[in-house]
Amino acid sequence: MRARAVVDLAALRANVRALRAAAPTAELMTVVKSDAYGHGMVPCARAAREAGADWLGAATPEEAFALRAAGDTGRLMCWLWTPGGPWRQAIEADIDVSASGLWALREAVAAARACGRTARLHLKADTGLGRNGCQPDDWPALVAEARAAEAEGAIRVTGLWSHFACADEPGHPSIAAQLSVFRDMVAHAEQAGLRPEVRHIANSAATLTVPESHFDLVRTGVSTYGICPSPELGTAADFGLRPVMTLSAALASVKRVPGGHGVSYGHRYVTPGETTLALVPVGYGDGIPRHASGTGPVLVAGKWRTIAGTVAMDQFVVDLGGDTAAPGDEAVLFGPGTGASRPSRTGRAPWARSPTRS
Ligand SMILES: *Cc1c(COP(=O)(O)O)cnc(C)c1O
Repeated sequence: MRARAVVDLAALRANVRALRAAAPTAELMTVVKSDAYGHGMVPCARAAREAGADWLGAATPEEAFALRAAGDTGRLMCWLWTPGGPWRQAIEADIDVSASGLWALREAVAAARACGRTARLHLKADTGLGRNGCQPDDWPALVAEARAAEAEGAIRVTGLWSHFACADEPGHPSIAAQLSVFRDMVAHAEQAGLRPEVRHIANSAATLTVPESHFDLVRTGVSTYGICPSPELGTAADFGLRPVMTLSAALASVKRVPGGHGVSYGHRYVTPGETTLALVPVGYGDGIPRHASGTGPVLVAGKWRTIAGTVAMDQFVVDLGGDTAAPGDEAVLFGPGTGASRPSRTGRAPWARSPTRS
């Protein structure tokens, strides 16, 4: 096999349990957007539920529908809405929706009235990220209209929420500032009569390092997959997390070359002396970043080495120096390198998406 991505669902379950333990007073939402960060959404979602995830989080309604179609019946939220919905389909599928502004609230209310059901809706506050979310100045109007729609029975405001900008930079002043704005915006909403089930702002980094951000629910994405949100925080292992995916490829060529030999496009690498070059048959077409040229790590013949020269569309070269290897030997691009047990269903790198993959 040319290359394979192995997804270790036992590691994912262990990570979910570790994250629950990191936020013991809050519920846990496992974020499975973008095909579970490329790990395969449905199997990862199932494994997360098995390990006790109270909620699943998706970006788009389409992702949430795919989870329902796969049989998931638990609490499920999606937050990336555009005018036109599909609000009604989400409400009928018992998916928690989100509104950052009046247009979204009004569309959700209209859809709820049309299908005669109460929409479960989270109001999103922009406490400083400057991305999605309602600005503090616009919040009272959004809250008031949501409260009126709740009184009428069209919606139930199940959540008040926000998102951090710099939680992966320990001590960044925006963390405390956003928490303070969030507390004020929540207090205003509660004074206006809203009684949310969950108030939530913490992503992975905040879950692991900012306990006062946990509130009622934490939303963990990247850490679920055993990746630390930022090297500044430490390693994944420091938090008891294990990489879920191992990406490896079989060497396609091993050959001796003289010193002074240019390697790959642009000859950005030149062999310093007579040496052995190994060819790894994956490239930027498979998602290996082209900016890993000359810098990316790869484990070959028992040592971590650096990609030699330019990453091409489907191959790159590694200089083995004084070591040797055989065609077919394994090169590991990332992952724990051990303990991976379960091949992904297609046996392909998950970013090499095929339309038939489910
Ligand atoms: C992606 C995302 C998360 C998860 O963030 P991580 O840093 O991967 O834990 C949480 N909340 C929202 C709104 C997101 O978009």
